[in-house]
Amino acid sequence: MVRTHHDFTWSGVDVHPYKEDGGTHFKSITRQTLYKGEPTLPVELRYFEIAPGGHSTMERHDHLHVVTVIRGKGQVLVGDEIRPIGLHDVVHVPEQTWHQFQAEADDHLGFLCLVAVDRDRPYRPQAEDLEGLSSHVREFVRV
Ligand code: MN
Repeated sequence: MVRTHHDFTWSGVDVHPYKEDGGTHFKSITRQTLYKGEPTLPVELRYFEIAPGGHSTMERHDHLHVVTVIRGKGQVLVGDEIRPIGLHDVVHVPEQTWHQFQAEADDHLGFLCLVAVDRDRPYRPQAEDLEGLSSHVREFVRV
């Protein structure tokens, strides 16, 4: 089976809001689930696209992500590290590691994200978590 690509949409795949419950902890981001998982391959492959100036939720959780950038550029926080990311870069997010993706002000950031079907809910930073961050991380993140 082939899902045909056209301009960062795929045949038979709906474009959804990033998180159905809404909120202000993310901005200008959409989600498409390209693969929903099967018993012998229990992972989801999602495509997220962050519009210029937007960002994903800052969060951590027990499950892992492997992310591959396929559109544009931006920056990522993983743990204590903030790095520029661009086309074809691969980002590994380990368990219980703070992470946030941000698009450039003038460019989209689109990436494939591999994640386990069976996974825990993300945890968002509380005031005491933010106080414990390094100053360079605190200046970077949008919460
Ligand atoms: Mn996450």
